Amino acid sequence: MLAVGIIRGKKGVYDFEIPKPVITRPDEVLVSVKEVGLDGTDFNILRYNLQDIAEGRDKMVMGHEMSGVVEEVGKAVKSLSPGDPVVVTVRRGDDIDQPCLHNQSDMCLTGLFTEHGIHKLDGFLTEYTVAEEQYVVRVPQKLARLAVLAEPVSIAEKGIQQIKHIQSRIHWYCGHSEHSWQSEQWGGCRVALVVGAGPLGLLATALLRLAGVSTYTSDLLPESHPRIKLLADTQTHYIDARKKTPKEVVQLCCTAGNLDIIFEAAGAATTAVALIPYMSRSSIYVMTGIPREELNMKLDAAKLVHHIVSYNQVVVGSVNSNRRHFETALKHMPVINERFDGLLDKMITHRFPLTDYKKAFATTGSSAIKTVIEVEPWD
Ligand SMILES: [Zn+2]
Ligand SMILES: [Zn+2]
Repeated sequence: MLAVGIIRGKKGVYDFEIPKPVITRPDEVLVSVKEVGLDGTDFNILRYNLQDIAEGRDKMVMGHEMSGVVEEVGKAVKSLSPGDPVVVTVRRGDDIDQPCLHNQSDMCLTGLFTEHGIHKLDGFLTEYTVAEEQYVVRVPQKLARLAVLAEPVSIAEKGIQQIKHIQSRIHWYCGHSEHSWQSEQWGGCRVALVVGAGPLGLLATALLRLAGVSTYTSDLLPESHPRIKLLADTQTHYIDARKKTPKEVVQLCCTAGNLDIIFEAAGAATTAVALIPYMSRSSIYVMTGIPREELNMKLDAAKLVHHIVSYNQVVVGSVNSNRRHFETALKHMPVINERFDGLLDKMITHRFPLTDYKKAFATTGSSAIKTVIEVEPWD
């Protein structure tokens, strides 16, 4: 079957033939791939020639954001049947440590995990894939066409889950019991800044708004840009940060008091670090972007540590997601779409058939929000 990916020692993306996978264990599921979304990780694999191919292999299929349909199930599979729309999660656990043995491979302790299309494991830019039942999440039929966005939404969900878990250290944030961390409207009386208005920044903004958080979203684009116009549906306050210092950006968010949450979704290292000294008391800063360039900056380490300690601050990194984050994402996706005028549909700006993969990988720049490759379009 046709596959698209990288070849050892050769820069760029290519198509090649691979054998159709088969079920070899009773807990496995054969999935026919429908759509694959591209994101910064895919573009960076090509841009920086990051060839993380398994030893003994000379090729790796790319693509880690997918939707598909169950084709066949192993004898022990209980939760899925042929014809079910599904998404397959990205990371396979190492079968060694407790997080991986208990469906939390996103928090792996050994680093011996693999990742479809990113780290040692074939991705989804092909016709079929086989995965264990625990990594295959059923999608409601109505949501099948948007399911390709479940992975990026799950990344935003995990970042927000970290915020809720960690900030539960402050039992009473405001005087309203309806704004407790366990409630759906936990974000009432909270203020957040989302750094970056790319797909992840857009989704994080939408989820924070859904929870009632008063949000600001910053990027280096004019307000007239289509991507920023899309953001307007979430009623976030946009900050054009091109001519503003980190201090000025935070001050804009603090007009009503503290800035409780910073959600970094830009992967710009200097900006990310430069915001730390301006964090509010007892606030949290979650970083999700992975910088690729090496950047050196001058830092007053003593001042930084002093600020972090005396202000009770948390800076936390968040990467990957597990099936619970996918399930939460699938629950929130129809609500996002309804509340924010079809935001998820509007986010998919480009679609290409699999044979046009070179065009899809060349579709970058700020006007492209999410590019989707149709392996076999939904009918
Ligand atoms: Zn592990
Ligand atoms: Zn409140």
